[in-house]
Amino acid sequence: MSKIATGPFPTYRPRRLRQSAALRRLVAETHLSASQLVYPLFARGGRRLRKPIGAMPGVFQLSLDELLKDAEAAFKVGVPAVLLFGIPDRKDTKASGAYARNGIVQQAVRLLKKELPGLMVITDVCLCEYMSHGHCGIVEHHHGHAHVANDATLKLLARTAVSHAEAGADIVAPSDMMDGRVAAIRRALDTTGLSETPIMSYAAKFASAYYGPFREAAESTPKFGDRRSYQMDGANANEALREVAMDIHEGADIVMVKPALAYLDIIHRVKQTFGYPTAAYNVSAEYSMIKAAAANGWVDERAVTLETLLAMRRAGADIIITYSACDAARWLKQG
Ligand SMILES: [Zn+2]
Repeated sequence: MSKIATGPFPTYRPRRLRQSAALRRLVAETHLSASQLVYPLFARGGRRLRKPIGAMPGVFQLSLDELLKDAEAAFKVGVPAVLLFGIPDRKDTKASGAYARNGIVQQAVRLLKKELPGLMVITDVCLCEYMSHGHCGIVEHHHGHAHVANDATLKLLARTAVSHAEAGADIVAPSDMMDGRVAAIRRALDTTGLSETPIMSYAAKFASAYYGPFREAAESTPKFGDRRSYQMDGANANEALREVAMDIHEGADIVMVKPALAYLDIIHRVKQTFGYPTAAYNVSAEYSMIKAAAANGWVDERAVTLETLLAMRRAGADIIITYSACDAARWLKQG
């Protein structure tokens, strides 16, 4: 334990620096700013479609014309980046829609980069939304037992990342948790002339009940089993550090911890250990819980949301992916 310098009372009085808002701001150790926020968006086919997600008030599946409006609103209020998820018209067992040249995410990327070139577009690279069975990789059956095949999946993930980058994505973000996927994606990008495209890896992604509402939003609930054979066990912090080390070694430029609120210690350890640009995903149920409590008048939505996001920053997150990005940016502007 390091020795913390402090004078003895009454020479030192911590309350001296808490006397006014200006003074408190002057000595604040952590700052939350709109420039650190990423806004997730769910793209689907159709026109003038704005389908609400029941468990996530204020979040919608959007047709591209509507998606453009929300991306523009986010950009205008100071949010620098969006994270795209796609809901395809058709699903199969090869996730064809994930890497189709005219897939829903590829179309969304092209549209956003054309209409809002200053907005950064990050794409979620995974297969679950495009698989008829809803798992993040290719499913093989051995003796009546279903298994998500790691190495066979890597090729499809790499193909997906390349197709997103070719469409113009500024950053690709693999979220599948297959072993070796960052290396496979880096290699594929480098050999197709996309060596400047950064990878933000979901490095320590835990199997979590906090993803519940998201599955409705992304329509990605597994049809059988769960994701515990590839996402991490919530009990493990040292393993999280190994996962992050591995992704950095394989070429990740930004590492992410997901979820955020129940894993603030992991965010802290990752930032302390590696000093890498670190992202935290403020996931769906973290958002829904505040929304539900606020709707009942039990908490002050603005105050609780900003305090929660500040806690993620204080834990060590440089970047926060949050469904509250636009609200938070607006509130921060109001001061
Ligand atoms: Zn997935």
